[in-house]
Amino acid sequence: MAIKNSEIRKAYLLDKYVIITPGRAKRPRDIKEQTVINRTGRCPFCPDQVEDYAKKHKDYIKDKIKSEDGKWRVMAVANAFPAVTLDNDKAYGTQEVIIESRHHSRELSSLDVRHVEWVLRMFARRTAAISKNENIDYILCFKNQGSKAGASVVHAHSQVFATKILPPEIHEELGLAQSYRVKHKVCAYCDIIKKEMPGERKIYEDKWVAALAPYASEYHYEAWIFAKRHLDNITQLNDQEFRAFAKVYKLILEKLNALDLSFNVFLHQVVSNRDQHFYMKIQPRDSVWAGVELGSGLVINSVAPEAAAEYYRE
Ligand SMILES: [Zn+2]
Ligand SMILES: [Zn+2]
Repeated sequence: MAIKNSEIRKAYLLDKYVIITPGRAKRPRDIKEQTVINRTGRCPFCPDQVEDYAKKHKDYIKDKIKSEDGKWRVMAVANAFPAVTLDNDKAYGTQEVIIESRHHSRELSSLDVRHVEWVLRMFARRTAAISKNENIDYILCFKNQGSKAGASVVHAHSQVFATKILPPEIHEELGLAQSYRVKHKVCAYCDIIKKEMPGERKIYEDKWVAALAPYASEYHYEAWIFAKRHLDNITQLNDQEFRAFAKVYKLILEKLNALDLSFNVFLHQVVSNRDQHFYMKIQPRDSVWAGVELGSGLVINSVAPEAAAEYYRE
């Protein structure tokens, strides 16, 4: 049963609150937004341009995943305009771009499951490579798609941002997860999966992954995908788990594509911390945060997660 009246809900762990206002919910087809980004000039992520740039810049190409024909399908390259670099003590870190396909205008959701899996495997390969640097404490893999999500290039790509600072919110969540384990003798996220899967916020479940619309969703159609095994980062996924993640990730992207929503994707991971539980957050950027959100920190979400999960399950 979907809720009828507004409800203030607290996030599972963080001290964050959301007001779910189903009375104001709009039907999916009513919230179509036009995401049109025009191509200007030459695309830096098209194969010929990448190779051109690599000839002039040493160490530009970081990694490639090739298919049977020997051509790369997913490529990791250095970010040409990084905010943090390994030669700057004052803003130490590294940034990379993962070019998700050779095709200029194909979105990730339109690629086959095997290809989506290559993208996830590239996240794992780059996380493994970058985490060898002991000065790096945090590796964020993310994707912005659509203009509202901050994407600046239309060619499908994700990014990796690694730094020596563990962001405060991750640090806080880490502490709360640790306290939860001490108190309940079980991982908070393993518990969330167990409690949510039989319920109406479940999006998808198989032997390896569990996807849900979080209880206190901050965004319309927010979706989280968990590894069912208790793992702290993407490098630990096995073949079946990679495949299962690719399958549900693609399903969610197709559903968001049908609504024409811009979105952000984040991998929630901390390398080598047994209190962490690896999951993927998909946050559509349909709602515009205004006075209440910016002034009070409380977020109003007019699409109840129960309704969002139902949309994904349809
Ligand atoms: Zn391109
Ligand atoms: Zn767990």
